[in-house]
Amino acid sequence: MTSVNTSAGSLFMVVAPSGAGKSTLVNALLAQEPAIKLSISYTTRAPRPGEQDGREYYFISVDEFLARRDSGEFLESAEVHGNYYGTSRTLIADQMKSGTDVLLEIDWQGAQQVKKQFPHAVGIFVLPPSIAALEERLKKRGQDEPQVITRRLLAAGGEIAHASEFEYVIINQEFAVALSELTSIVNATRCRFAQQAARNASLFTQLGIHVNLI
Ligand code: GDP
Ligand code: ADP
Ligand code: 5GP
Repeated sequence: MTSVNTSAGSLFMVVAPSGAGKSTLVNALLAQEPAIKLSISYTTRAPRPGEQDGREYYFISVDEFLARRDSGEFLESAEVHGNYYGTSRTLIADQMKSGTDVLLEIDWQGAQQVKKQFPHAVGIFVLPPSIAALEERLKKRGQDEPQVITRRLLAAGGEIAHASEFEYVIINQEFAVALSELTSIVNATRCRFAQQAARNASLFTQLGIHVNLI
């Protein structure tokens, strides 16, 4: 008999070098799939023009970040491009318990930490079509200082080197194609046996599929 966690919400991790289009893709996915809950990270980075506390991030000081990290509040945390970022443990636990699908936009270091705790988490790496395109997108976005853009471009190669640790890779060249690939990954994950059995327990029983709900 197959054992299935009754609250089989899926956990997605979308990772990319800065400027690859991760946030744009995730926002477009969530517009069509409002049932997926986006985890709002804590960061010590300053808000960009237009960013709101509690919407893109919870913006906190370094002292507060370190205090929260040291008291074990974060499921994962990492230093990325000179700032700290972390995912709230309680937020994720509450959502997963209720069977909700959760999406994390985190860096590769955080993804490694999450995978150790949730081995079924689905890792998706978004690649730019070229480094030149990455540079152009970061400049076109126009929200970071030139030295911040340079720092992020210099880091891109090292981040991309971790793409092989992920189950899925999306090349974000044509946006519509990339979005449809992301949607396909989400749909395929929802059709995994464990997810279907947890969502359709009474149907599975009627059909005589015996599942050990844990
Ligand atoms: P972006 O690269 O343009 O999305 O810029 P951000 O400043 O929003 O994110 C900077 C980096 O921090 C990216 O690699 C994110 O994926 C990563 N990041 C954001 N939130 C988290 C988090 O909660 N945990 C971890 N580990 N990384 C995060
Ligand atoms: P990230 O979250 O990975 O740092 P963003 O989602 O902020 O990246 O995207 C960076 C910039 O690239 C944005 O200005 C966005 O509009 C643009 N962009 C995203 N996807 C594409 C694409 N397929 N083609 C051209 N520009 C894109
Ligand atoms: P940005 O400062 O441009 O918003 O994000 C820069 C990088 O930090 C991105 O690669 C983003 O994915 C990563 N990041 C954002 N939030 C988190 C987080 O909570 N944890 C980790 N590990 N990385 C994060």
